[in-house]
Amino acid sequence: MSKYGDFYSTKWGFPKAVPEDHYPSPAQFMPEYLNNPEYYEKGYHVENVGDGGNFYWVTSPAGYEAGFVVTGAGVVVIDAPPGLGENLPAAIRSITNEPVTHLIYSHWHSDHIGAASVFGPGVKIVGHEITRELLSRFPDKQRPLPTETFKTDATLEVGGVKLELSHKGADHTPDNIYIYAPDQKVLTKIDIISPGSVAFMHADVSENISGYYKAHDDILTYDFKALIGGHISRWGTREDVEIVREYWHDLAKFAEEALWEMSNAEALQGFVVGMGREYQLVGGENWLNSIANYATEKTLTKKTSNGQTWPERLAGATVNTKYHAWTVAESIRLERTHHGYQALGNGGPAYIA
Ligand SMILES: [Zn+2]
Repeated sequence: MSKYGDFYSTKWGFPKAVPEDHYPSPAQFMPEYLNNPEYYEKGYHVENVGDGGNFYWVTSPAGYEAGFVVTGAGVVVIDAPPGLGENLPAAIRSITNEPVTHLIYSHWHSDHIGAASVFGPGVKIVGHEITRELLSRFPDKQRPLPTETFKTDATLEVGGVKLELSHKGADHTPDNIYIYAPDQKVLTKIDIISPGSVAFMHADVSENISGYYKAHDDILTYDFKALIGGHISRWGTREDVEIVREYWHDLAKFAEEALWEMSNAEALQGFVVGMGREYQLVGGENWLNSIANYATEKTLTKKTSNGQTWPERLAGATVNTKYHAWTVAESIRLERTHHGYQALGNGGPAYIA
């Protein structure tokens, strides 16, 4: 037992995950640089991406990613995750002596921009107006306010290098933007796609799941050779996005099936009858977890478009699908249309909850 103890003995918490119950990450999720001891000593890995030779993707052993472009008139950086911290300026210095002149915030989350202050006070910070509003409400000296904001679309041009910024509505957060370099064909869209994996729990802890789904479609409207997703282990291709999009649509289909099966008046009675009124929340947990378990089982056992199962195709499928299923089922129940409502008196059609 580590000095931090073992928190799995509580009977009211989550069970401990053990490797024997799960699939290993597929090889395509394990790029070669992960085997290089120097990566862990330096604290970063930097790679040229897209066309033109001046756009770079940086990642860290903490699993966080940023991007930067060398313009000839200064370096434009996208995001400053604390998990890269001072290793991000070090990665930039390993490529160029040009100073950092601009920092773009993808969204307000501190795990992606909480090291912004490493670039000092002289750097222009570009972000969405909602990013500025959120950072004004919850001030953080490590996340200085954007000095320049925009509402729908804007183009940042530095040294002849163009970056097209676009806000298409709430998804992972209300302020999460698209950052597209048209000449380099590099798209940065953070916390939607984690190439080669099913993404972090609960759809990357996204606030608007319908928007999270739409973002998968919107990403595919761009002509890109490299997608910087913010996590973890590698940058992505168009095919990566299409594969992950298929996974999410399978999950939504099975979550909807589960809702039809278990969110009607009769099924809801079944979850709580016999529990007693004082234990109805126990029945409530069983109801939502049954929906999530149904969608998880169906998603993880089906043969997908290439004949493999999702655990064979995407890292983290057996670990994170149950969290995603719970979140997606709740989003369908709360954000999408209802197929009926309670009839007068006691009773109702299917799918009323
Ligand atoms: Zn985020």
